[in-house]
Amino acid sequence: MERVEILSVRIDNVSMDEAYKTIMDFLKEEGRHIVYTPNAEIIMAAYRDRELKDILNSSDLNVPDGIGVVMAARLYGFRIKERVAGFDLMNYICKNAPGKGHRIYLLGGKPGVAEEAAKNAASTYGDINIVGTHDGYFDSEEEKSMIEDINSKDVDFLFVGLGAPKQEKWIYGHPEIKARVMMGVGGSFDVLAGVVKRAPAIYQKLGLEWLYRLIQEPWRYKRMLNLPLFVLTVFKERIGGLIWSGRQ
Ligand code: UDP
Repeated sequence: MERVEILSVRIDNVSMDEAYKTIMDFLKEEGRHIVYTPNAEIIMAAYRDRELKDILNSSDLNVPDGIGVVMAARLYGFRIKERVAGFDLMNYICKNAPGKGHRIYLLGGKPGVAEEAAKNAASTYGDINIVGTHDGYFDSEEEKSMIEDINSKDVDFLFVGLGAPKQEKWIYGHPEIKARVMMGVGGSFDVLAGVVKRAPAIYQKLGLEWLYRLIQEPWRYKRMLNLPLFVLTVFKERIGGLIWSGRQ
């Protein structure tokens, strides 16, 4: 699998279809597998937080999420095959789940959101087997019983929507959880439950999903400044690296 390191975070250059096939192979293997969906914001956070960077690099698959990653990869001389957003990958898995018997657990979001997302997934995709849901606001007691619940259910897919970087740290910090594939999905349950609207296809196609999000949730602007900052940082690092290697 072709890989590119962006600000020292590994990105696997997979299309949606290849990501799906890789994940299907994980199901056949022993033990648990971790899938993250690094976007510009997460990579920028990992640039400042070494622990997060190591966590991201310890995964089994990091799909390229968002236009920022595509642009940054270009600066490294790589062409990303396709943007693979976490939300889309989760939906792709759910869409293909009927008939396969995959056991799916949704964890995250405000109380009631994961249940609503599960209902919508069932009505959209038909016969999918969601074996449990839990909201993303729990204390350590609740967490313990939730993990027991997950471990008792022979889970194939544990989708974790606690937002980044909380979900990545949480997944990494709980090796006792038994699920064949664990994947961080950010605010995807909010979208699936209809609490938050996903950008229309035209915005997605033009790589302007961030703009739609900014219009819908203007209070996120501070976080979103990470996108230009990310591109600038990659640019700076790349130019610095090229000048340095030219001197050698
Ligand atoms: N969330 C959660 N528990 C927490 C903090 C956040 O379940 O302790 C959920 C929150 O309800 C939302 C998601 O995590 O559904 C974060 O969404 P956001 O869009 O901010 O995440 P991103 O996709 O940007 O990582």
